[in-house]
Amino acid sequence: MSCTHCGLCLESCPTYTLWGTEADSPRGRIALIEDSLAPDGTVSAEMAFHVERCLGCMACMTACPEGVPFADLLVAARAAIDRELPRPVTERARRHLSRTALARSGRAAVAVRGRELPHHTPARGDPRGRVGLLLGCTQRARHRRIHEATLTVLSAEGYEVIAPRLPDCCGALELQAGPHPHALRRAQATIDAFAAVGGVDRIVSSAAGCGAAMKGYGHLLGTPQARAFSSMVRDVHELLLEQPPRSPLAPLALRVAVHDACALCHAQRAGATPRELLRRIPAIELLELPREAGACCGAPGLYPIAQPEASAALALRQARAVLEVAPDVVVSSDHACIAQLQRRLRALEQPLPVHHPIELLERSILAARPTG
Ligand code: SF4
Ligand code: SF4
Repeated sequence: MSCTHCGLCLESCPTYTLWGTEADSPRGRIALIEDSLAPDGTVSAEMAFHVERCLGCMACMTACPEGVPFADLLVAARAAIDRELPRPVTERARRHLSRTALARSGRAAVAVRGRELPHHTPARGDPRGRVGLLLGCTQRARHRRIHEATLTVLSAEGYEVIAPRLPDCCGALELQAGPHPHALRRAQATIDAFAAVGGVDRIVSSAAGCGAAMKGYGHLLGTPQARAFSSMVRDVHELLLEQPPRSPLAPLALRVAVHDACALCHAQRAGATPRELLRRIPAIELLELPREAGACCGAPGLYPIAQPEASAALALRQARAVLEVAPDVVVSSDHACIAQLQRRLRALEQPLPVHHPIELLERSILAARPTG
């Protein structure tokens, strides 16, 4: 599983298509990382520069016919950079603050609003299962609608949902920087929080990035408990496709552009699931993006803060691709992508509704319910 330099990943790499430089391609980064991590190698400033410009979107892993484990190389490279390339104190402080700021602001917003989502949501009709829902930090505070829709849909489909207050953050943001102790503590705290709930068949996330992080805990922590936890994690689309639909669905005559969240399509390899689920809704028309399909929108983790110009350029490409298909609505399976697309479409003065697919499913279910 080593890189054969075939170049089949190049066109799928957003940073390569943006800058056109070999060192900003998967192939170029692999060479730099392998040189630095060799027994006689040292972490070079050049390697650090190009690794830091990598989105971690993992489109290269989907494209690579050799199965080169780029995700593992990236984690090792980021850890080596942190360890061996001391940054100025101010830079380290900025990175630490950035990593924790989003999680903290999420928790603060919850506290200020004082409106927690229900801890327990019963199943409608005969229960099909009992699931734990990750509320997370940013999504809980800033994208509450997605959680509300998720609870409505899961309940309608026969799932009893337990949404524990803890964990307050799954650590996805910190994990992007590698397996440092703070990130490992967050992963273990998430496992412990769901263990305290007890008796759930699945752990569910409707945030693609958080789901990908939780699916990686087993590999990250390497304990039987962590591996068992990760094997129970499902993205909400995956969970709903495990059983035939139960709720009647009203037609939604909408042209829907589907944006692929990298964390779902590349990290979780579940990019088909939102489409499959949405196709259950009568009259809906799904539109594939003509260009940039599968290309990252520049939103992952701290990329918009660390690389603002590249992030904005990638978002602009995605927004233009969306506008080309002239949809009524756009869907994406991660709140960060949703916010990124909303911002960019507004900046182009062509605002469109951007939703999570689960919100359209909720709309269809509620419209089919008898009134009165
Ligand atoms: S993770 Fe994304 S940005 Fe990084 S090398 Fe792979 S395709 Fe390119
Ligand atoms: S990473 Fe995979 S697809 Fe890319 S050049 Fe190497 S072997 Fe080819």
